[in-house]
Amino acid sequence: QSAVKAEQAEKPGKQLANNEVATGERVKATFVTLARNSELYELIKSIRRVEDRFNRKFNYDWVFLNDEPFTQEFKDLTTAIVSGKTKYGLIPKEHWSYPDFIDQNKAAESRENMKAQRIIYGDSESYRHMCRFESGFFWQNPLLDEYDWYWRVEPGIQIHCDLDYDLFKFMQDNNKLYGFTISIYEFEATIPTLWKHTKDFLKLHPDYIAENNLLDFISNDRGETYNLCHFWSNFEVGNLNFWRSKQYREYFDYLDKTGGFFYERWGDAPVHSLAAALFLNRDQIHYFEDVGYNHGVYTQCPLNAQFRYDHKCHCNPDTDFTFRGYSCGKRYYDVMNMKKPAEWEHYT
Ligand code: GDP
Ligand code: MN
Repeated sequence: QSAVKAEQAEKPGKQLANNEVATGERVKATFVTLARNSELYELIKSIRRVEDRFNRKFNYDWVFLNDEPFTQEFKDLTTAIVSGKTKYGLIPKEHWSYPDFIDQNKAAESRENMKAQRIIYGDSESYRHMCRFESGFFWQNPLLDEYDWYWRVEPGIQIHCDLDYDLFKFMQDNNKLYGFTISIYEFEATIPTLWKHTKDFLKLHPDYIAENNLLDFISNDRGETYNLCHFWSNFEVGNLNFWRSKQYREYFDYLDKTGGFFYERWGDAPVHSLAAALFLNRDQIHYFEDVGYNHGVYTQCPLNAQFRYDHKCHCNPDTDFTFRGYSCGKRYYDVMNMKKPAEWEHYT
């Protein structure tokens, strides 16, 4: 019995056939996508895939956010394809600009340095606004106020397997707050002082650390140093109330005041991940091993063949990243004492 199958057996509720629409209890959930108008045709593929594999059975809403107004074409096409309601938000300036405590010359110098070092997105100003926005502001958008749960979707992603149960309801029924599909090491040059500042914050608020936290996933030396493991945030199924919590708000504000989003190039993925690993109990974080996911060069593909047939997955297991050297997947299974899929050693 593979771990994938055992996990699947605990999924609550009725499994839906492809032509069935869910009639049971729904939760307060929405998809959320930050995107540019120019990404419409990459995004629409993601949306079509998410609808085909999941949402056409559940009809959850979809919130779109942008730092510029969406075009009519963007709104018309996304509304035509999303099975739930669609909503479009213009991000307020305060959520996508330099705060007054930032020295913009120093920020520009840092971009020049990172460009010379060929650090990915090192010279990009908009990427920094994006990472700061996804860390501290997306969940503050009024369009999300009516929801408890969100699923983040980016342009160009793939879903490889049928998802025949309600992932949001699964999270709610099992007391989960943060869900991921892929974990990976961060480029150290993008976050040289993130862990130092995180430790300083924790010294001020030792009571914010969850008793049964996941520190052993993010550190190999009980918190002395950060091992760079993080959940890849282009896929997230999570609870908005976690980001709205006092602990997270204070953590984000503290990090923001250091200027690291601009003087370095902190990603929202390590920021979200450090918060989840420190402020949540480990059993509140869920690894979705059954999604089958791709973004860019990294893929998750369930290794058990019968599982792939049962869920009509179209991915090649040879591409699965979970147990490869640069993934933090093996570490996650180990620290969580989870049983790895029987096949895992053939895919390292
Ligand atoms: P990567 O996945 O780290 O390579 O970064 P992406 O370029 O995919 O950006 C992450 C997300 O933010 C995607 O959903 C993009 O569509 C979105 N995004 C990035 N930059 C901008 C921007 O300047 N404006 C808007 N509106 N969205 C952006
Ligand atoms: Mn992306």
